[in-house]
Amino acid sequence: MHIGNYLGALKNWVRMIDQYDCIFCIVDYHAITIEYNPADMQRRILNAAAVNIAAGLDPERCIIFVQSYVPEHTELAWILNTVTPMGHLERMTQFKDKSKQHRENINAGLFTYPVLQAADILLYHGEAVPVGEDQVQHIELAREIARKFNMRYGETFPDPVEVLSDAPRIMGLDGKTKMSKSLGNYISLVETPESIWKKLSTAVTDENRKRRTDPGNPDICNLFTLHKYFSRKEQIDRINTVCRTAEIGCIECKKILSDNIVEALAPIRMRYEQLISDPDYLADILHAGAKKCRDIAVNTMTDVKKKMGLR
Ligand code: ADP
Repeated sequence: MHIGNYLGALKNWVRMIDQYDCIFCIVDYHAITIEYNPADMQRRILNAAAVNIAAGLDPERCIIFVQSYVPEHTELAWILNTVTPMGHLERMTQFKDKSKQHRENINAGLFTYPVLQAADILLYHGEAVPVGEDQVQHIELAREIARKFNMRYGETFPDPVEVLSDAPRIMGLDGKTKMSKSLGNYISLVETPESIWKKLSTAVTDENRKRRTDPGNPDICNLFTLHKYFSRKEQIDRINTVCRTAEIGCIECKKILSDNIVEALAPIRMRYEQLISDPDYLADILHAGAKKCRDIAVNTMTDVKKKMGLR
């Protein structure tokens, strides 16, 4: 999890847990569609659970579990494959991007990734799906798949709708593409203060500002956007003025941002350290979550199969 995930999705998830019956899923079956180290998978799963809980997904107020613990996800995905037009999948920009990033392993799972994602949602009759902007296309497809299924086999799934945060697309520290794990242009939610500063100190700002004495333009500076989410109003207002008059340099401005990000992430990192040192506790949460999900998932599959004449 990086601050793009946090601002674009996670903050919304935390906000939503008291408004909805929320289910959060660590998608290990999705993760295996790109090269990975099997020996590292369980560590990554526990890590994902720890970061998410540390950032506010209180397991007392929502369900959190691992996708592969509930076999109905892949069962429903297979069925949904049969109502998903190939042409729709071919249009998915994430598939196009990932195919470019992983040329040596463009597998069928990568291609049908959004169908499994639709199954993740529809299995629980999911209605509100909080995501970043990059995922909107997949939610639209899930809606399309739900409608196609309903048309062919009778009313079964509600229309899932995307819920965007006020920061649906955070750019990476390179200022060129969206912040993303795979591009390495991110600040992690559990990054150390030293590392946060190191990454920010080389991050791209207004590229037209070559010298300290040149006036800057916060409107096109990616780090100014981060200030808007992490800094205090008076700091933001001041930077918005003194950057334009070159009264503040990028280094000083970055230092303010760094301090504020460090301060915002400190409680998350502290809670994360506690959680990750107790893998049994995390495993219990994930198994208890899966048990609740299975009860729902089995009911959905019974209904789906009956409607399809499969039992
Ligand atoms: P990544 O792109 O780093 O692999 P994921 O695909 O795991 O991230 O995304 C998890 C959630 O965070 C999704 O809802 C996604 O839309 C959102 N998200 C990812 N990157 C960003 C970003 N740069 N800005 C805003 N939201 C994002």
